[in-house]
Amino acid sequence: MQIRVGNGYDIHQLAVGRKLILGGVEIAHEKGLLGHSDADVLTHAIMDALLGALSLGDIGHYFPPTDDKWKGADSLMLLSQVNHLIQEQGWRIGNIDSVIVAERPKLKPHLGEMRDRLAVILSLTPDQIGIKATTNEKLDAVGREEAISAHAVVLLTRN
Ligand code: MG
Repeated sequence: MQIRVGNGYDIHQLAVGRKLILGGVEIAHEKGLLGHSDADVLTHAIMDALLGALSLGDIGHYFPPTDDKWKGADSLMLLSQVNHLIQEQGWRIGNIDSVIVAERPKLKPHLGEMRDRLAVILSLTPDQIGIKATTNEKLDAVGREEAISAHAVVLLTRN
């Protein structure tokens, strides 16, 4: 069996008048993430980890922010496309682990729903997807509630 590991990172600015969508789940908050797509920073980090594991580049290459086609795009749909890309090459996801870094709102109550949504999109069992949330201890842009970032690691296997 072959194995590959990939890591992904993303950050988006918080802005008034935008929806906050993380892991495909809309979360009530006075600000949301700014971006060309729905700016789902967790899903973007996972996509980059999947692409990175197979040296397939990054999400900007497949879904360029300059292309109107991806304006307001549902990032779960983009994730599904990336998953097909890796499946076409015979790879399967072993597991995903991730961290969302946000000062506010409290994300813990939403982590289970995010995990379940990602599991459905990727045809995985929820125990294959780890999502953790932490604050940035009030430090830097994330700590000042100007942004939310996410980190992800994936393991791919091929028989
Ligand atoms: Mg992004």
